[in-house]
Parts: sequence; structure tokens; C-alpha cells
Amino acid sequence: MILRPCLRCPHKEGCEIREYYRNALRGMKLTTVSFSCKKRTKDLQPGTRVILHNEGIWAEAGDIQGTVSGLARHNRMKLAVWLDESLDPGGHISIVRVFPDMLEPLDAPRVAVCPECGRPEGYQNKPSWVCSTCGIGAGVQ
Ligand SMILES: [Zn+2]
Repeated sequence: MILRPCLRCPHKEGCEIREYYRNALRGMKLTTVSFSCKKRTKDLQPGTRVILHNEGIWAEAGDIQGTVSGLARHNRMKLAVWLDESLDPGGHISIVRVFPDMLEPLDAPRVAVCPECGRPEGYQNKPSWVCSTCGIGAGVQ
């Protein structure tokens, strides 16, 4: 039985929530179960400073620091992270969507995050980025 929120969760070893669901659903012949679990991202709220452990996914880059923006829009299993430096020399990859078990929270103050577009304070984006709340991009001079 696959418990969907437990996939790629940094807290799954010895987790009491996981044990609870496993026991409660035992014998019901379910293959996959989804439920919402706040523990997955409890240390990774928007604005949290993190280290992205780059498990060889982006070969050139080592571990990079960044700021959690929030849940990824099209994949709620992942978190969007704005990186302090780009992953590629061309500077194109500065926002990534990663599983929470690739992120380690830093002992640092939280950064304010725009509630509208998710941009953490202090980060730039393409000039084409438009947000009516934090105002970056068009309309701001
Ligand atoms: Zn914004």
C-alpha cells in the first residue's frame, strides 16, 4: 500500500502519522491512499531559507541555498524554491520545484514572501514577471 504523502517525505522514518494510517487501513486491499499531511512541509513554510541537496540531478552545481516560495502550483507534492544562484551558467534556472526530502532548513530568519506570486523578498526575476501585489516587472521603474 502506497501512502502518497509519505513519498519523498523527510519525516517518514518512524512517523506516527504514517503508522496510524498503515494500521487503520490494514487488510483493506488498497493500493494507493492519499490524505493531506501538514508534517511533510512543517519545517519548510514559505520564506524558509534552505539548502537544496542537489543529489547529482544538476551535474554542474553543488548544494545551493535558496528560499522556499510555497507548494508548487501544478504539483502539490513539490515545493517551489527560489535559488540564490542559478543552476546553469546562462542564469536561466533560478526557480526549481523539488520534493521536500531534498531540502534542509537553515537556521536563519524567514524571508517575506509575496502572497500573490510567491516571490521571496530580495529576489529578482525576468523583466516580464508581472505581479500586482509586489509589483516586480512591468509597471515598476
Ligand atoms: Zn508578487
